[in-house]
Amino acid sequence: MSSSAQPWPGVIRRYAQFLPVTETTPVVTLLEGNTPLIPVPRFVDAIGGKFDLFLKYEALNPTCSFKDRGMTLAVTKAKERGAKVVVCASTGNTSASAAAYAARAGLRCAVLLPKGKIAFGKLAQALMHGATTISIEGNFDEALRIIRELGETGLVEVVNSINPVRIEGQKTAAFEICDTLGDAPDFHFLPVGNAGNITAYWRGFKEYHAAGLSDTLPKMMGWQAAGAAPIVLGHPVEHPETVATAIRIGNPASWQGATEAVAESEGAIESVTDDEILHAYKLLAQTEGVMAEPASVAPLAGLMKCIAAGRIPAGSLITVTITGHGLKDPDTAIKVSGVTPQTVVAEKQAVLDAIGL
Ligand SMILES: *Cc1c(COP(=O)(O)O)cnc(C)c1O
Repeated sequence: MSSSAQPWPGVIRRYAQFLPVTETTPVVTLLEGNTPLIPVPRFVDAIGGKFDLFLKYEALNPTCSFKDRGMTLAVTKAKERGAKVVVCASTGNTSASAAAYAARAGLRCAVLLPKGKIAFGKLAQALMHGATTISIEGNFDEALRIIRELGETGLVEVVNSINPVRIEGQKTAAFEICDTLGDAPDFHFLPVGNAGNITAYWRGFKEYHAAGLSDTLPKMMGWQAAGAAPIVLGHPVEHPETVATAIRIGNPASWQGATEAVAESEGAIESVTDDEILHAYKLLAQTEGVMAEPASVAPLAGLMKCIAAGRIPAGSLITVTITGHGLKDPDTAIKVSGVTPQTVVAEKQAVLDAIGL
């Protein structure tokens, strides 16, 4: 490191002027943020695009999803207020992040998960970080209702995105995109589950614009899974179903924020099928070496639909949030890859034969 280089301090210290913190706030950080913005020209060629595409690879946060940006602030504020126990409902990544940041802060953590619908890696994280892990015989929306009720008891600090500081922390990803590109993109694509992140990005892009740190604003393009698309349908979905478990949500907490982001930015929220999601999942992994979890590629499946419909002007600058790492959900990866390792005798010729050389 050269003598002038500053180590990355995490999103709270980097963007403190935009966040609800003071000099005495006890910052709880795992040095999240500063994730790469990866150009993916081979993927663009494969889908027949005529534009520049960059992935905001949030899989490289400390617990391998974007949830860390909001969680650093939520746990910091919980600690500042003297809370002892943080709780959340989760489709998996919020619980992984809450468990890690609570451990970092020396707080107790309890997480409520929909029974049997958690990707294996995410469950491993919550258990490993010592969270009290509770399976609910119900879906995410039911778990979140219980969390709201627990919050009203005053015994616990809720760190779901119904806690407004989560959104505040998450908006820093939009700041980083503008810092890297020198301006906002023309379009920003991302998956929509509880709709906190689309709300957060739009707030981030607007605040940077208002502060004179970017000149333009993107159109916000949100993507739900067809079996869990309440915003697209205009009503809650009682039994949401999709392979993309991170967006398997029937009644989004930030519904209004998402609707405003789309209306103000002249963007859209639409849906893609599980087949379209799994196609994009494999294509990205095999054309670019970027592994994302299924929910994270819903916006790439959406981008492919937009190209087919002629909705993306040539030469556009497009960014997509890759919200979580593909290793979170190894079961789906192994199933979708469709291959198993071959076993051969321990000889050179057998290996050459197996490679087809
Ligand atoms: C939480 C999550 C989402 C959905 O984000 P919302 O803010 O709930 O819309 C999408 N992808 C992954 C990997 C997530 O963990």
